[in-house]
Amino acid sequence: MLQKLKGTKDILPKEIATWQYIESVAKELFENYGYNEIRVPVIESLELFQRGVGETTDVVQKEMYTFEDRGGRKIALRPEGTAGVVRAYIEDGLSSSPSPLKLWYHMPMYRYENVQKGRQREFNQIGVELLGTESYMADVEIIEMCKSLFEKLNIKDIELNINSIGCKNCRKEYTKALQEYIRPNLDKYCDTCKTRFDKNPMRILDCKESNCKKLNQNAPSILDYLCDECKEHFENLKYLLERLDIKYKIDSNLVRGLDYYTKTVFEFMSKIDGLTVLAGGRYDGLVEELGGTSTKAIGFASGMERLIDIFKQNNKELNLEKHMRLFIAYVGEDANVYTSKLVSNLRKNGIYVEKDIMCRSLKAQFKYADKKDAKYILTIGDNEIINKKAIIKNMKTGEEREINLEDESLINILKDN
Ligand code: ATP
Ligand code: MG
Repeated sequence: MLQKLKGTKDILPKEIATWQYIESVAKELFENYGYNEIRVPVIESLELFQRGVGETTDVVQKEMYTFEDRGGRKIALRPEGTAGVVRAYIEDGLSSSPSPLKLWYHMPMYRYENVQKGRQREFNQIGVELLGTESYMADVEIIEMCKSLFEKLNIKDIELNINSIGCKNCRKEYTKALQEYIRPNLDKYCDTCKTRFDKNPMRILDCKESNCKKLNQNAPSILDYLCDECKEHFENLKYLLERLDIKYKIDSNLVRGLDYYTKTVFEFMSKIDGLTVLAGGRYDGLVEELGGTSTKAIGFASGMERLIDIFKQNNKELNLEKHMRLFIAYVGEDANVYTSKLVSNLRKNGIYVEKDIMCRSLKAQFKYADKKDAKYILTIGDNEIINKKAIIKNMKTGEEREINLEDESLINILKDN
């Protein structure tokens, strides 16, 4: 049997209602904050991610799906959304729209990862990018929107961690201090960390190896090295979060896995399994790095699969599946035609209704309606067509009622609960 690739998943019909529900809640929320949806290609030039995400990140060093196309171009499957969105922002002239520009997306991403719980090779992210403002107020609005998203989805087992990773200037001093801290134990770190020691020692703080994590425990804190501007930004951010009653913890080892971040970084973690459900940060240098005019920006992405997981754990009783309101059973050819018109009409009125399309016996029709959990059954034969009256049965209560087929009584029954 042919099988799906490792790290990919089929999203089956019984799960789709949850996906659609979360997407519709997020879409409505994002739109109320002024965000518009953007969709960018799955394939982009490899160079976009090398420059955008950073040469020394896990994503670029170990996780990208790359290939050469028939024209010899170096291509990558998108591992994350921000680089492509920023490329579109520059290339498609979005920078001339009123500032700040607010964009959201829901797109599949591809990373060649070690497959485990919460880590797939094809996964979906829902995310936003807010371009054109350097104010801490943008950071707060974004974090507050994330909090609202979790509230709207009734997700309680979640906590917010924040940090500031400063700018190029504050990182110079900090990098030196970090290297001094790591150097005596460098031989004990993993090979990847060793290769990052000279080029990008802050990446070492993001290493997932438990031994490296232990070695990092007493590393100097970037917060002690922030320049005046970055310090003020972080202080203002914390102040406004507190005034808005948004609870957070500071995690000075939080550096995030992508190189483009500056100043504020944050993540919402599941209290159930410790996985990061949503993560983001400010990326003030990225637009310029990719060839645009300097534009300060901030964004986040949430892994849909992880979001769905915690959503389900927090909403065990919720039933989002759409149930059949009415099944119309029929006997005879005239009734077949009559009921075909009737279902068509009811569907035009927005009602989920089915009839048999397999030439089944009446008994088999009832069995199908029962299996599909139809709320009502209406049965129509020659007599019902002549008398313009039929019996409708409520399958839950067993109650039966005679209704007039010529007036609004059927629609009225189906429309109230
Ligand atoms: P990590 O450090 O856990 O690898 P990351 O820095 O690679 O995370 P981002 O690139 O910021 O993560 O991705 C944002 C979010 O996307 C994550 O918090 C997570 O919810 C989700 N995500 C990232 N990688 C995967 C994956 N391989 N499978 C499923 N979800 C993922
Ligand atoms: Mg990762």
